[in-house]
Amino acid sequence: MASPLTEKEVNRLVQLLNDEQSEFLQSYLKQSKKSKWLEKLAHKKGVVLHPDTSIDEAWDQLDDWELKEILDGGYGNRPYKCECGMALRFCYIVHHRKENKTYRLGETCLGHYTMMSAELIKDITNGFHKIDLERDSILLRYKQGWELPSVYGRLPLAEELKTQIVIGLPLSSIQESRIEKRFKQQLIKIREQNKWHRLAQMKGHHPTYTFQPAASPVSHSTIGLITYEEAISKYQSNIDAIRQSSPKITDLLMLRKYNHLQNMFKALKQGELVDESKLLSHMFELLYYLKLY
Ligand SMILES: [Zn+2]
Repeated sequence: MASPLTEKEVNRLVQLLNDEQSEFLQSYLKQSKKSKWLEKLAHKKGVVLHPDTSIDEAWDQLDDWELKEILDGGYGNRPYKCECGMALRFCYIVHHRKENKTYRLGETCLGHYTMMSAELIKDITNGFHKIDLERDSILLRYKQGWELPSVYGRLPLAEELKTQIVIGLPLSSIQESRIEKRFKQQLIKIREQNKWHRLAQMKGHHPTYTFQPAASPVSHSTIGLITYEEAISKYQSNIDAIRQSSPKITDLLMLRKYNHLQNMFKALKQGELVDESKLLSHMFELLYYLKLY
């Protein structure tokens, strides 16, 4: 198994994300670790949990240590304390319902205080390690400029995945292979359709839209960074038209571009400069998609 990024590298890559993206990633990782804990414990005890069992019911049934929360003190900080006195960056809060006990522990002390077997603890921490690798995969893809496979935009994905895509956070390779597996038949169909569509286009049966920045009213030499005032004076009417029609956007890729465009304007409003060619490419793709162009 490849080793995960160091804490320092993770910290550096997380800084590249916007607030929305880093909050989503944090909560996704926490949620994954909590479910991993539950899954390993249930497996160890031979308890089969039905998919519609709520988390509460599951813990009543399991009668064991529940992972309530994972606190993260942030890179370079150790604000929490383990029951043994050690200062911690990551603090696991575990709770036993029947015994009504709560402990705040570091990873190395999880076994000592809960009396869970070393084997189970190892299973759990291995599971956590895999989730950290998933985080690394997302962060590295973000840095390298990962593009969402356009066919995914047409799949009926779970709400959480949709959000992840729309806010512009890459999918991990694990998430991607889950999607490929779950929607195998639909993906074969969509890819086949796309192939025929492309062939038809090549034969010239259908006129196609291609985005050419040179065809826009902006001359090439002026493309660079722009300010809020410049963006508004040039593109206000187009942006307004897109905003008015935004409820009609159903394709996830287009929703992602719309979200990105909104973020660009948010940044512009706060006095930042924005890459005009990027703004234009999103704007024209949305105008075209919404049939406003
Ligand atoms: Zn400890």
